[in-house]
Amino acid sequence: MSGCYAAFDVGGTKTALLLADRRANRLGLLRESTSPETPEAVSYRDGRAHLGVARHMVSLLRSALLEADCPSLLGIGIGAAGPVDGGDMRNPPNVGATGEDRPDRPGPLYVPLVDPLREAFGAPILLRNDCRAAVLGEVFFGVGRAVPDKDGLFLAYVTLSTGFGAGVWDGGHLVTGKDGNAGEVGHLLVREGGLPCGCGNRGCAEAYCSGSGIVRNARARLQEANASDDARYGVVLRQLALEEACAEGVVPADDGGSLGRYVTPSRVFEAAEAGDPLAVAVIDEAVRAAGIAFAGLANACDPDVVSVGGGVALAHPELLPRIDAEMRRHLNVRPPQVQLTSLGEDAVLYGALVLAQQAAEGRVGPSVGS
Ligand SMILES: [Zn+2]
Repeated sequence: MSGCYAAFDVGGTKTALLLADRRANRLGLLRESTSPETPEAVSYRDGRAHLGVARHMVSLLRSALLEADCPSLLGIGIGAAGPVDGGDMRNPPNVGATGEDRPDRPGPLYVPLVDPLREAFGAPILLRNDCRAAVLGEVFFGVGRAVPDKDGLFLAYVTLSTGFGAGVWDGGHLVTGKDGNAGEVGHLLVREGGLPCGCGNRGCAEAYCSGSGIVRNARARLQEANASDDARYGVVLRQLALEEACAEGVVPADDGGSLGRYVTPSRVFEAAEAGDPLAVAVIDEAVRAAGIAFAGLANACDPDVVSVGGGVALAHPELLPRIDAEMRRHLNVRPPQVQLTSLGEDAVLYGALVLAQQAAEGRVGPSVGS
């Protein structure tokens, strides 16, 4: 063995590191919470920087290299929760958000990734948004694994998790767009003036079908539940939220607002399975929004296969045939095959491994920052 690759999946809550040899054999795998450090803000670019995430990645990689007894690091690939800007994450909604607000240092919050890792290891690095990384994982290790001619592959990868986004591989190349942000299908408009989205707009698909959207929709409906004529409306979900609260040792007031804090995506699915009309409506809306966004993606990019991953999809694969049916109602292209990813929760990691290999081959320039 003459060296190894490091692949990172940096999510809002979890960071995973895969160490692999030249033949992509696994030498080590670590999963930890993303930066256990409290975000600290130092002046950086036109705003502030949270350095803890990269510091944590450096220490993870140092221990993994020691453990695997790897003599040299050939390349590092990073798939990171977006948005990605240059070698950094910029205002990632779930990273550093718990940090102290610093009115004395206004501006965006950056999470530098590439520079600190390059300084620590001196290895070539490629960084991409996690969905763009994941579609590379599909091309080389998933759907396209047995296909030698990658130029003949037309694939999309969609993540249905805390957020909702896509990556597209179009006949031999990754679709990136001018800033590397192509595939933001979560922000396709599905309802004018609809629910607020994390991006600042209203009525985006993500506001209905991501894990956070499902929760937000259920909370909003719980607060309005008293106005419903249906006596069963929201009853099961309220009960489940109450159980969730009690498990945390809290007894909230039995009103929609207080209980809403204890609603989780899995509780909404559980209530829908039990026939709670509120939860059923939330899941129906999620399916409709996802179907419209899948159709937007298919109409724009015409893939053969849409591979679906992410926590919500992996936990609820029964959603896929429903999303597929909704998608087909809005298509003007031959329907793609919609299927669950075979890479499970590792799609981004495998994509990051491809990035590490590309970095080692010297394809650094055009990919950093996208
Ligand atoms: Zn949005």
